[in-house]
Amino acid sequence: MVQRYRAAFSLRRALQRQAARRCRAATAASHARAGRGAATVREELGLTREAFEQAASRHLERSRHLAHHLSKALAMHSADAVWTAAARHLVPDARGQRAGPPSPGRWWTFQTLPGRACSHTIAHKWETFRLVGTLAGHLDRYRSPSLSAVATVGDAGGVPRGGSVLAQPRHLQAPTAPRSGSWWEHRGALAVVFAGGPAARAGDLVLPVRLPAGAGAWAHTAHHLTDPGAWHKLDLVRTRAPGQRGGWRYAAHLLVLAPPYVAPPTAARRAAAAQLDRRAGVDVNVSNVTVVSFAAAGTDGRRTVVTLDQGERQRLAAAADRARRQARALDRSRRATNRAQYAWSRAQERRAARRAAAGLRPVTVSLPRGPRRPTAAGVPEQAYRRDACSAAYRHGRARLSVAAAARTRASQARARQVAADLVATHGARAVVEAADVGVWARRWGRGVAAFTPGRLVRALAAEAAAVARLGAAPGLVRAATRPTACSQHCLCGARVPKTLADRVHRCPACGLTGDRDAVAAAVLAFVTVTDPADPGTARVDVPAARQALADCPGLHAVLSESRAAPLGRRRRRPGGWAPASARRRRAARRTAGSVRPTIPDEPPRPHHGPPETTPRASAGHAGRGRDPVHRQDFWPRA
Ligand SMILES: [Zn+2]
Repeated sequence: MVQRYRAAFSLRRALQRQAARRCRAATAASHARAGRGAATVREELGLTREAFEQAASRHLERSRHLAHHLSKALAMHSADAVWTAAARHLVPDARGQRAGPPSPGRWWTFQTLPGRACSHTIAHKWETFRLVGTLAGHLDRYRSPSLSAVATVGDAGGVPRGGSVLAQPRHLQAPTAPRSGSWWEHRGALAVVFAGGPAARAGDLVLPVRLPAGAGAWAHTAHHLTDPGAWHKLDLVRTRAPGQRGGWRYAAHLLVLAPPYVAPPTAARRAAAAQLDRRAGVDVNVSNVTVVSFAAAGTDGRRTVVTLDQGERQRLAAAADRARRQARALDRSRRATNRAQYAWSRAQERRAARRAAAGLRPVTVSLPRGPRRPTAAGVPEQAYRRDACSAAYRHGRARLSVAAAARTRASQARARQVAADLVATHGARAVVEAADVGVWARRWGRGVAAFTPGRLVRALAAEAAAVARLGAAPGLVRAATRPTACSQHCLCGARVPKTLADRVHRCPACGLTGDRDAVAAAVLAFVTVTDPADPGTARVDVPAARQALADCPGLHAVLSESRAAPLGRRRRRPGGWAPASARRRRAARRTAGSVRPTIPDEPPRPHHGPPETTPRASAGHAGRGRDPVHRQDFWPRA
């Protein structure tokens, strides 16, 4: 497999070099482009899909070595991928933007051997890698001893969680080809077959397939693999696996033309959420997300605050410390193996000068601690990619990237779980302020990285969309900040200016007191957006908000409950966000005052860059900043 990857990589690099040269020529030929037209010049220079496919084919014919490992079809898929990248550079997209010029890729980031999609119009038309066998055949071959001998694919779905459906040995045997020699007739265990390449001599490459064996995963597996007619495209993918021999793990990615699998509990939860007739507002901060929702009539207020608990904060800080230590160890390793590229530190220089002055023998510096040596232009003398790196360095770097990927996956899984809880409580009709979390990351990098509010909002949008498809709710809608100014207004419509440091909302007009974020989320719940595609069409429905202020029993308690109270009652989640629910507290009915100002339609004003003073406190912590920055400025617009 490594040799196949090496061959595919060298072919791809040759094609990428050709693409870079041809693109440079096309860019330089300004007169020819003006005279004969850009398309003609591109064609003359061989900048077409066909020309690249022919080039790949010629490489394969001329190189015996490549032909041992690659088939023509595989070479052509490679050429298609290279051409796509070159075309993105040559032809601007709808927004007039184009990608950078193509350049040779790196071995360490080369992951995918693209396969050809299965044709669903011509029978048995699937070149390069293909999946053969059937799920029933696989079950027959590797049936778990605990499963009855006559259980079918459908029956196996009934095995309770924790049981096993398959018993696949540690070393799987590749199935043998059918007597006719045609893999299309194979009905046994699943296998990936690569026909072609060297092929002729060594025969087809047949890789046995290992499926998840647990009963919990079986329904998911069966959903995608039962119908071979839906199998569409197979790519070979490798990922770094420092623990494995060779340092890589190989897998086949199958694309299936089928609706995604939804587990029965998820389907039931979404069906129940689709029945909820509620309107919710989502207030997003650097360190917490507050959701407040009301029943359609403006009654039954509910609030949920999602934030990182203390233990999780400490765990994340410890993980960041560990990653920093590992990164510094990698840096030391790189410095030690590339000493000529780094200057000495001041202390090292002083010591050398001292020893020279005292007439002592100069010492060898094994680890220069100074800056990287620059050229006159200020760039490194030697590109980082040309550095010599030890095997331990590569190993360490692979471990770091694998750990980071695992952390990201865990965080995404938690985001989906929290989003599911939020939509189940508050329904799928929700409004969130349109803010670019990426911009926050530049200012509050570490806080945002720990809490990842953007990831949570994306998960919330996906879950709300899945529920919205079942009912009439519109899902999660974005509302522009300027025309709504939810953090600066009260439910009664009065403007209540607050600085970032003001964590409590106190309305002088109606007397409503509450947590700043909760009130903002409550106002957001009454925002209507005329055109969901344009956040600028958002307006606050003041009469409805005022009605809720009057009708919702216990609203004051829902909005003003201190954050400390729900934290004690939150459900424990192993290492993750803790949604702290404050639902429907009984409280005395509160009368709204007689002052009835309306929220003015604020015209969009140009935003003048970041505020002059950088806030010292993140929005989630009360009273720690003395900053005149309003909430709108706190969320800078691009
Ligand atoms: Zn008010």
